[in-house]
Amino acid sequence: MVLEITIIATRPLGEAIVTAGGVDVKEINSRTMESKLVKGLYFAGEILDVDGYTGGFNLQAAFSTGYLAGKSAAEK
Ligand SMILES: Cc1cc2nc3c(=O)[nH]c(=O)nc-3n(C[C@H](O)[C@H](O)[C@H](O)COP(=O)(O)OP(=O)(O)OC[C@H]3O[C@@H](n4cnc5c(N)ncnc54)[C@H](O)[C@@H]3O)c2cc1C
Repeated sequence: MVLEITIIATRPLGEAIVTAGGVDVKEINSRTMESKLVKGLYFAGEILDVDGYTGGFNLQAAFSTGYLAGKSAAEK
């Protein structure tokens, strides 16, 4: 038995729990979160192309990369 479901619409982006896509992590120095392409530009959190499981991983990623990016930018 197969349950067929027709998707007629999606919820708005503002309700998205994980946003796929974003800045490629290969373009980021993971020790500082600084862009390898644009010096002095730092990235953190949801704007990075990293997907995590629901349950705190996305929040932890945002906190950790935000801390590192802010610290690195202030120390530059
Ligand atoms: C409904 C929902 C449930 C979720 N549940 C979980 C969960 O259970 N566990 C988990 O780990 N993650 C969860 N997430 C994901 C998690 O909330 C995000 O990954 C995380 O908050 C991303 O943090 P961020 O700081 O990168 O971005 P955000 O929290 O989106 O912060 C970006 C900030 O930038 C501000 N901003 C935007 N544009 C500008 C501008 N031009 N100038 C100045 N400020 C601007 C916005 O107002 C916002 O305050 C959930 C997300 C949603 C939407």
